[in-house]
Amino acid sequence: MRTLISNGIVVNADGSCRADVLVEGETIVAVGLAEAATPAQQPLQVLAPGAVDRVIDARGRLVIPGGIDPHTHMELPVAGTVSRDTFETGTRAAAFGGTTTIIDFAGQTRGRPLREGLETWMARAEGRCAIDYGFHMMVNDVSDATLAEMDTFVAEGITTFKLFTAYPGVQLSDDGAILRAMLRTADNGGLILMHAENGVAIDVLANANAEAGRTDPWYHGLSRQPGLEAECVHRVIRLAEAAEVPVYIVHLSSRDALEEVVRGRQRGAQVIAETCPQYLALSIDDLGNGFEGAKFVCSPPLRPRDHQEALWQGLANDDLQVVGTDHCPFDFAGQKDLGRGDFRKIPNGLPGVEERLDLLFQGVVQGHLSVERWVEICSTAAARIFGLGDTKGVIAPGYDADIVIYDPGRRHVLSAATHHMAVDYSCYEGREVQGGSDVVLSRGQIIVEDGKYLGRPGAGHFRPRQATGARLP
Ligand SMILES: [Zn+2]
Repeated sequence: MRTLISNGIVVNADGSCRADVLVEGETIVAVGLAEAATPAQQPLQVLAPGAVDRVIDARGRLVIPGGIDPHTHMELPVAGTVSRDTFETGTRAAAFGGTTTIIDFAGQTRGRPLREGLETWMARAEGRCAIDYGFHMMVNDVSDATLAEMDTFVAEGITTFKLFTAYPGVQLSDDGAILRAMLRTADNGGLILMHAENGVAIDVLANANAEAGRTDPWYHGLSRQPGLEAECVHRVIRLAEAAEVPVYIVHLSSRDALEEVVRGRQRGAQVIAETCPQYLALSIDDLGNGFEGAKFVCSPPLRPRDHQEALWQGLANDDLQVVGTDHCPFDFAGQKDLGRGDFRKIPNGLPGVEERLDLLFQGVVQGHLSVERWVEICSTAAARIFGLGDTKGVIAPGYDADIVIYDPGRRHVLSAATHHMAVDYSCYEGREVQGGSDVVLSRGQIIVEDGKYLGRPGAGHFRPRQATGARLP
């Protein structure tokens, strides 16, 4: 099967041009200029239209590498309930939004082998995904046994391990445990990902608020202060410096935390940071309005509106490298309302895997980002950082044909009535955005076209990833 995508603007992180893209089977085999800009460049007329099975006319549209969302939680058990999207519904929704790879988080039960957790998550995803996927491993207790398992995991393509300074008694690792895990990655080439919020201090404030009768979702936001995120970002960067390894900060939410990243990097620390669309497009104001605010409860929490500008600037300057969603959806009815009367019991997490490219494209529309930078933070950087850089994140010969034909002018309204995520509300209900994914190919197969799903569960494969810890950032 040969597919020619003609007349579009091919956008890669390092530049864009009007070009045709030829796909054979699952792979991009040629990218040629539709018109040779200089005599040295090859026009693609070598590809006679008769030699292809299918032509997609991408005139007036962008041809970009499929999005890579390195932070999702499909069917994650949390506080007695489970996030609503399965690997089937969640990856289908991702595809509608132009994302063709996710990296989800497999979880360890404290005291049990990492392997047991990985196998549980592998079984959940196997045969269900519409798009390619990989796993990070969440390490809830660092021991001689789990450290030894990390080496094996790296060899198998699960090269990244998430640790927490939050959730004492459940997931929190102390400084010694974090340092031990980091030192291990110095040897095995893996990479430590950190949820950096001071969970011990946050619990004190959250309990004080709740015991004083301040139980609305708003107090979730007030209890988890930006300074308590910044303090942990600082601490884990210092630990990584001690271990002489890179560290990756997940879901960085505040200006305060970003300042610590910038300062660390100025010292020479190898720190990489990810933010999420919700921290750019929503604010702590959304946590107001009584219990409705539960729809916006996630950790770290939404911040005051004036943090957004700093985060956009951080993305533009490469102080922030990646945008993941932290997609972890819970229905408002029946799940979020477990915390009615006590914000501490609201399951933490927001839906978002479908909207990431479109929300970030508003940064292009508004002049915060170039279109190339948008591609970089939505796809290319994650591929490079997470060990998929030889196969994904670039439109070039030899790469997987994970391709999105994106209409930069199409306006549409985000709503629970039209989204494909299995959750009963949208954080962006009624918001109009400019730009949308028209055609989505996953390894050469059209899986979304004209708003219709043409993929199938199981077409997406588990993709082992290379260890990149030794060659970052
Ligand atoms: Zn997460």
